[in-house]
Amino acid sequence: MTAGVTEPWRATAKDPMRFLGGYPADVLDQVRAMVAADKLGAHIARRYPQRHTVQTDRALYDYTTELKQEFLRSAPPLHKVGYDARLDTAQHALGLHTAISRVQGGKLKAKKEIRVASLFKDAPPEFLRMIVVHELAHLKESDHNKAFYRLCEHMEPHYHQLEFDTRLYLAWRELESTQSKGSDTTA
Ligand SMILES: [Zn+2]
Repeated sequence: MTAGVTEPWRATAKDPMRFLGGYPADVLDQVRAMVAADKLGAHIARRYPQRHTVQTDRALYDYTTELKQEFLRSAPPLHKVGYDARLDTAQHALGLHTAISRVQGGKLKAKKEIRVASLFKDAPPEFLRMIVVHELAHLKESDHNKAFYRLCEHMEPHYHQLEFDTRLYLAWRELESTQSKGSDTTA
């Protein structure tokens, strides 16, 4: 980074850069430069100007099942899909997939469930798709291994770009909210 540029993101537990952990240093430098120049929000808005209309748990269930029918027909059926306000970025959980096993009539039955953090209700359609694709892929692969990411790319060819941009979006949201809370600084 250039000396003399004020670093707006301090390395605290709430550092928005944590969303981008694991990406190469030069990429992170570009992000920091965009933040320092106050251009990140405009960058995201230009690339992702739309908002989706999947606003209820029922709509999210249909949306997810449709994707599953198209790409993962053989995966076990989903019992429940919904938005969850308790999932948030503080816990680093944007989506969740669970399989609750119960003995039913002498047989072991697994109930598959997908939950998506509520913040994705008000997000570009591409980011919702990315998170749903991610959780659907977990129906087949529990780890983030090569097979998992192949599956994600099979469902969404731009998966990797979208995951990066979703993380950028989350960092930007957090940055915005901390800036509006610290109201004693000049805007
Ligand atoms: Zn995952």
